[in-house]
Amino acid sequence: MLKTRAELTHAFNPAGLLLAIMIITFHSHSIADTEKPTDSIFQTSLFEALMEGVYEGDLTYGDLKKHGDFGLGTFNRLDGEMVALDGVFYRIDSDGKVSVVDDSLKSPFAIVTFFDSNETLVPDQQLSCEGLKKYIEQALPEKNIFYAIKVSGEFEFMKTRSVHAQEKPYPPVSEAVKDQSEFDLKNIKGTIVGYWLPLYIEGMSQSGFHFHFISDDKKSGGHVLECKTKDISIDIDHIRDFQFNLSDTEDFNNAELKK
Ligand SMILES: [Zn+2]
Repeated sequence: MLKTRAELTHAFNPAGLLLAIMIITFHSHSIADTEKPTDSIFQTSLFEALMEGVYEGDLTYGDLKKHGDFGLGTFNRLDGEMVALDGVFYRIDSDGKVSVVDDSLKSPFAIVTFFDSNETLVPDQQLSCEGLKKYIEQALPEKNIFYAIKVSGEFEFMKTRSVHAQEKPYPPVSEAVKDQSEFDLKNIKGTIVGYWLPLYIEGMSQSGFHFHFISDDKKSGGHVLECKTKDISIDIDHIRDFQFNLSDTEDFNNAELKK
């Protein structure tokens, strides 16, 4: 291309210019294709509604599955943590037990996508969770789009949590997590299922990183609090489309969402 431009400035050639424009146009199409603009995030409810105690949604997991094979979330009454990986939806309850989610269960908050890696990163050193987040953040090509993030491999340490089912009147999440169960996992193989979302989405969703974990043996997992990687690879899915599904429930319709 540089050579063509040099030739053009040397002796202007309309046919050559047309060819150059065609090449540029074709090239920009091929970039759009590799970024898969049809990739989409699907979220049920709003993050702020969940934070304020709207813990009963009307979307079943059977319906949620139609919108993604990868994601995270919770269950009505805040009864456990959800991780979806390779099309299987798991529930980690407050005792740490993992089960496959029944299609009839409902979610007050979940975020899913059909995961399709655009790039793979392999760090050459062990990282804490904070280090992992910095490592991923500096590698993100754009700061104003959405990313689904899959971190697979071995972890020297993984600290997760799950929450107990809540009773009405529901407290805000900041209260509900005060008696959360925490699990320390050591030398464990598994996958972090996560998202990175830009700051402008705050309120509607959660900005920055949100990570859930499921072990390879599907016996442990939860919402990630801390970790130390050992031997991992990171897959990143670039996403430019975001859909929200809002519950038609009295609690959601009457929630005061002013933040
Ligand atoms: Zn979580």
